[in-house]
Amino acid sequence: MKASQFLISTLRQAPADAEVVSHQLMMRAGMIKRLAAGIYTYMPMGLRVIRKVEAIVREEMNRAGAIECTMPVIQPAELWSESGRFEKMGPELLRLKDRHERDYVVQPTSEEAVTDIARQEFKSYKQLPKNLYQIQTKFRDERRPRFGLMRGREFIMKDAYSFDRDEAGAKRSYQVMAAAYRAIFDRFGLSYRAVAADSGAIGGDLSEEFQVIAATGEDAIVYSTGSAYAANMEKAEAAAPAGPRPAAGEALAKTPTPGKSTCADVAELLGLPLARTVKSLVLATDELDAAGAVARTQIWLLLLRGDHDLNEVKAGKVPGLDVGFRFATVPEILEHFGTPPGYLGPIGLKKPLKIIVDREVAVMADWVCGANDKDFHFTGVNWGRDLPEPDVVADLRNVVAGDASPDGQGQLAIERGIEIGHVFYLGTKYSRAMNASFLDEDGKPKPFEMGCYGIGVTRLPAAAIEQNHDERGIIWPDAIAPFTVVICPVGMDRSEAVKSAAESLYAELLAAGVDVILDDRGERPGAMFADWELIGVPHRVTIGDKGLKDGQVEYQHRRDTAATRVPAGEIAAFVK
Ligand code: ATP
Ligand code: MG
Ligand code: MG
Ligand code: MG
Repeated sequence: MKASQFLISTLRQAPADAEVVSHQLMMRAGMIKRLAAGIYTYMPMGLRVIRKVEAIVREEMNRAGAIECTMPVIQPAELWSESGRFEKMGPELLRLKDRHERDYVVQPTSEEAVTDIARQEFKSYKQLPKNLYQIQTKFRDERRPRFGLMRGREFIMKDAYSFDRDEAGAKRSYQVMAAAYRAIFDRFGLSYRAVAADSGAIGGDLSEEFQVIAATGEDAIVYSTGSAYAANMEKAEAAAPAGPRPAAGEALAKTPTPGKSTCADVAELLGLPLARTVKSLVLATDELDAAGAVARTQIWLLLLRGDHDLNEVKAGKVPGLDVGFRFATVPEILEHFGTPPGYLGPIGLKKPLKIIVDREVAVMADWVCGANDKDFHFTGVNWGRDLPEPDVVADLRNVVAGDASPDGQGQLAIERGIEIGHVFYLGTKYSRAMNASFLDEDGKPKPFEMGCYGIGVTRLPAAAIEQNHDERGIIWPDAIAPFTVVICPVGMDRSEAVKSAAESLYAELLAAGVDVILDDRGERPGAMFADWELIGVPHRVTIGDKGLKDGQVEYQHRRDTAATRVPAGEIAAFVK
């Protein structure tokens, strides 16, 4: 590729809404362009990275025996009603209508569509196991799209679905995928951990997330310093010993008084051990008016002085934390945290109040609880009566760095991570709901045993940048760099020698299959180098008249602080 024919659109400054370094750098390097919240154009430079991620994923999926197809982005609601997800899923599912007023969804994943294929195509046990995958656009109307490609609304996911005869087979398919994921993530050259994740209602341990380690990650991950134990925070908390909780109805006897309750009062009211549990409590109640709109919100909030990430707080990483508990009104929250409680972003709550409120807040009888969002209100809530016991208990646990590992070996440490992949054993959840069965050896119909496996294809480059950058820009791992080598001729327009050396090196590298770009734009050296350092091409060859006189060119890896002189005749072999 020649730079004069390509689209290079670097920016001096990132837009103000780019909070994390990967978002800033992808914007500045001209890799993506924002069209709407969480919706981006993959510009030519960015698309090259995404295509390389896809190629690696595709190669390893194929190697693991999965077969590629492409399912529709727009899917009929009837199919989604079969699984119940059309009705059950919240506003993250984008629903739309066609000209005949028929309902459709934009796929956030594709369990229904793939199960529909299986029930038509896999009639006999002899055709199993099968694993179908696609690398395809997904849409999730995320409550808080942010960080560029990291949490987009439209994004690309590789999603695979396995179909087996029985549970043992499904578990083997799951292990094959887990191994393929390691092979994939090893190839990106990133530091990551596979952690146990919650497998939801199905139970068991057959759900793992692949987390790229990064301080800006939205997830907290917990691992043992003395064993292989590793889990995401939700899973770790579920395994941690529970704090005491009030018996049903007990808390109703005492209602905290606005403005008068102290931290200790509320902790006592809730029956929580103050020192550990109270740190993670955020409580809110909404008063609805007759029309069901929020009339007034009262927020009970642990005032963490300053702007803390709740997971950091939970992890005990916020020293000298000054907590106090009080009633707060919306204006007070605004004043204190600078944003409306829509919600509590500044203290880094990963999940909206919904979760916490549903499960913990109901300290008053028959209140309306929930986030400031119509669908999330719970009415008639009473502590310990309407709330499912296990959920309440689970939320009253806390995992802190230095705790003993649940396997008794070593202590727990906590890191932050970016979820780039997830493998999940599904069982027969979808096949039963959708009547998807095959004829087994005994001639009887059996529902497929399924698994699903996702990789965030467009999230991955963002995670890679979080781990690989410096003050000058991105430093791509070779495997996913938009170009692996850039040739920077200095004074190409003035010097025939430079021009012909650059052109012949370019031709030689192209012929050798190297992904090379020749910067023939005629930029001044300073601007040219700054562009390529920002874009993050890992290998740079600089060709100038001065060096050529001694038969030398310069090589510099993006991580090197200075260039190395290499004989012009050896440079091709050097960078190949
Ligand atoms: P998260 O916890 O970050 O919301 P998830 O658990 O909802 O992710 P999955 O349903 O497991 O996501 O989807 C598989 C993969 O798709 C994730 O591991 C992640 O890498 C990617 N992914 C999910 N949501 C997004 C998004 N909004 N933008 C970009 N990638 C995403
Ligand atoms: Mg999600
Ligand atoms: Mg997740
Ligand atoms: Mg997940």
